Amino acid sequence: MNMNAKTIIKAGLIAPCGMNCAICMGHLLREKNKCPGCQGDNTNKPINCVKCVILNCDSLKRNKLKYCSEKCEKFPCTRLKNLDKRYQTKYSMSMIENLKDIEQLGIRAFIANEKIRWTCSECGGVICVHRGYCSKCGKHK
Ligand SMILES: [Zn+2]
Repeated sequence: MNMNAKTIIKAGLIAPCGMNCAICMGHLLREKNKCPGCQGDNTNKPINCVKCVILNCDSLKRNKLKYCSEKCEKFPCTRLKNLDKRYQTKYSMSMIENLKDIEQLGIRAFIANEKIRWTCSECGGVICVHRGYCSKCGKHK
């Protein structure tokens, strides 16, 4: 199995809220029942993500938006701001910043930057945002 950040981090794993599911422990650190990411179906998805108010947001569905930042008139809404605040505090990562980058740079350049940001300098594996260490060799960021 290829565990390198270069192959793991991809556009299909970016959630509507701007979360990079490739660096989430539900995707990265599970051998069995690996979560397919928010864009995937609900099989093996943690219950918190299945029930996520952002993922199930009416505006996303109604307007067929890929990302909250696309055309949602409420962007960034209170729900997203709360999630973003929690992630900035606990994990030093901002979904809203991610979405703004996607808007400005495009998804391809954003992904290229994410690969640089979350690649382990030791082994090329992915740093888990929740745990703060490399999912492949265990090195801390
Ligand atoms: Zn590593």
